[in-house]
Amino acid sequence: MTSWNDEAPVRRVAIFGGTHGNELSGVFLVNYWQHEDPTEIQRPSLEVRPFLANPRAVEKSVRYLDCDLNRTFEADNLGKLLEDNAPYEVRRAQEIDQIFGPKGSPDAYDLIFDLHNTTANMGGTLILESARDGFAVQMCHYIQNALAPDGCPVFLIEHPSLKYATTRSVAKHPVGVEVGPQPQGVLRADVLEKMRTIIKHGLDFVQLFNSGKEFPPCTIEVYRITEKVDYPRNENGQITAIVHPNLQDQDWEPLNPGDPMFLTLGGKTIPYDGEGTVYPAFVNEAAYYEKQQAFVKTVKVKLSARGLRAS
Ligand SMILES: [Zn+2]
Repeated sequence: MTSWNDEAPVRRVAIFGGTHGNELSGVFLVNYWQHEDPTEIQRPSLEVRPFLANPRAVEKSVRYLDCDLNRTFEADNLGKLLEDNAPYEVRRAQEIDQIFGPKGSPDAYDLIFDLHNTTANMGGTLILESARDGFAVQMCHYIQNALAPDGCPVFLIEHPSLKYATTRSVAKHPVGVEVGPQPQGVLRADVLEKMRTIIKHGLDFVQLFNSGKEFPPCTIEVYRITEKVDYPRNENGQITAIVHPNLQDQDWEPLNPGDPMFLTLGGKTIPYDGEGTVYPAFVNEAAYYEKQQAFVKTVKVKLSARGLRAS
């Protein structure tokens, strides 16, 4: 017997660009869809709203002005009464929550795609927030099949302490799209095209679902975050070793115990001394120097979703 999830049709979808103002693929795609030609994101059974999440950071081509918008959507930030000197991004988070939320309520948008770039060699990655979001798992499965033989890694950020309150978490189904490598403040045609193709397939999936297509139970392989790894530092907090050339650009590739991980300027290799094989991601991400993070460790796990059909 197949077990089915009968879910309400997905009618309200948003595509966020510029949650980080210097990640330009999403900024340019959203501007294009807003001001030039929205036809490629239109589907008959749903409303799709392109939206610039942090316009002031976009103007300055910086990640953020006062604090990281993509870490600002905790309930106490969204609910608190703001003083005049409140950080811009906290104010903006409340606006976004009013338009697309309230987060956690039945009135919230059904689905938000949040477009990001990374300086790491992660390819076109989908980011899932919850292993139990069967709709999102089915969508990832669909997009992976549509893109094959090209790979489309799925990164699961669910974790008791490492998960953070993302901009897209306002929606019932939050899906991150993280494409790299691309330097901050730069546009690369190949990266933009990859992002655009992922969105096309994601919207096609929603349209098929709304129009009655049944998606049988599926299983996908995902990379689940287990740990953040900082650079080696001295007692003053300064970085003393850089990402080893053998690890650079090797996102999603196995890192085994004993493999080179960092390299000091004196030429000493610091190997990975963990227990088992991990799969690094966000390797040498520019934006994470301030977060004291050289890369994240992930492990491969299988995620299953029940069959899906519109109720
Ligand atoms: Zn970002």
